[in-house]
Amino acid sequence: MTQLVDSSDNAYTRQRLRGFPWLRFEPELEREYRELNYQGFQRTRNASAVMLIVALLGFLALDIVYGYGAQFPPVSFFAVALRSLTVVFACVGFWQVRHEARVGVGERWVVAVLGVTGFSSVLMMLVYAHYHQEFHLPLLLDAVILLMITVLFPVGLNVHVAMGMAVLIALSSWLLTPWVSGSLMDQQYVAFMPFQVASLVALMALRYYHERSFRTLFLLRGSLHEMASTDALTGLFNRRAFDALARQALAQAARDVRLCAVLLVDVDHFKRYNDAHGHPAGDQALKAIAARLHAFPRRPLDLAARLGGEEFVLLFADVDKAFVARIGGQVCEAVRALQIGGEGAALTVSVGVVLGAPGCSLEGLYELADQAMYQAKQQGRNRAFWGAESRGEAAKGLV
Ligand code: GH3
Ligand code: MG
Ligand code: MG
Repeated sequence: MTQLVDSSDNAYTRQRLRGFPWLRFEPELEREYRELNYQGFQRTRNASAVMLIVALLGFLALDIVYGYGAQFPPVSFFAVALRSLTVVFACVGFWQVRHEARVGVGERWVVAVLGVTGFSSVLMMLVYAHYHQEFHLPLLLDAVILLMITVLFPVGLNVHVAMGMAVLIALSSWLLTPWVSGSLMDQQYVAFMPFQVASLVALMALRYYHERSFRTLFLLRGSLHEMASTDALTGLFNRRAFDALARQALAQAARDVRLCAVLLVDVDHFKRYNDAHGHPAGDQALKAIAARLHAFPRRPLDLAARLGGEEFVLLFADVDKAFVARIGGQVCEAVRALQIGGEGAALTVSVGVVLGAPGCSLEGLYELADQAMYQAKQQGRNRAFWGAESRGEAAKGLV
């Protein structure tokens, strides 16, 4: 199975065979991966955000209860105010992330919420510890490790950002702890140091391997998808992909009340060419013709595909009659100009052209284009024939 995927030549397979030790793909794939990663973890992220807000509200309640018996009312007031601000910020962040479709902006909000809640929680603990003289080092360390787990938890955050944040949290705790405990060489601090380092390393290693297998799955999935939708010889879409995409394009054209054109392109006397030059040369010819046809679709909804054998199809969405009148001839001329087989014996194509009114069916277009192509063959090949119009039920009389 992996061997089968390895033999396919597409961006996903190339990236997988090249490797990605730094957990980064080439720019286009990286963008696609991050998009999918961010969207894929939406539910986990929302659930985590709700849990975070509930936990913060719990702490706020404790701050208020604790404030009643406090010896330093200003400190308690500060604690309640800071915690309330944190809750408000977390809610705003959550709302932004939920309503933000762009990965980059959404990620920045996740980082901001994690950073602000993390920093304010540690600050509160330090304030309590300082004013109540009951500093518990293990409590602070637990909080730091919890924070590191939180940022490294896979919720769709970019892995480099997550790792950067984990290191930042560890470094700031190593700077803060001796400062609060009053001595650089505090025994407890020294004893806990290896534990913290080990936690950081273990968490980062776990995150690294999780990310790696996730990325590998993404690449395998992408390869399989490409293999299922493209023709192995020419790299054009295959019939399955064409049908699915063409239906989408036709539905869009129907909504926008636009005309579509379908061109069925069949190589002339290709059996003869195969017999004269051999099958491998025939394959090369099909590749060259496919590459030329691939240059015709220029807009997002336009398509080129290999239907099978020496038959191709082109679809143009949103066209006018003047375009349809000239495109068939242009395709014929473009293929003839390749001079496959040499001057005088160059391979040519016959093209069946059909115009589709808004609401027409793909099956109807295929049928009429096939009849038009047959006419082109009948009239001597190396030409285009503009067949009958395919009229949509929904839009009879529009054209
Ligand atoms: P016409 O002008 O009437 O279309 O004649 P034709 O010879 O092109 O049509 P026919 O259907 O008789 O032959 C098509 C040939 O295309 C037969 C087959 O050997 C060849 N063919 C189909 N698929 C491939 C392929 O993938 N590679 C090669 N080299 N040849 C192929
Ligand atoms: Mg044929
Ligand atoms: Mg043919």
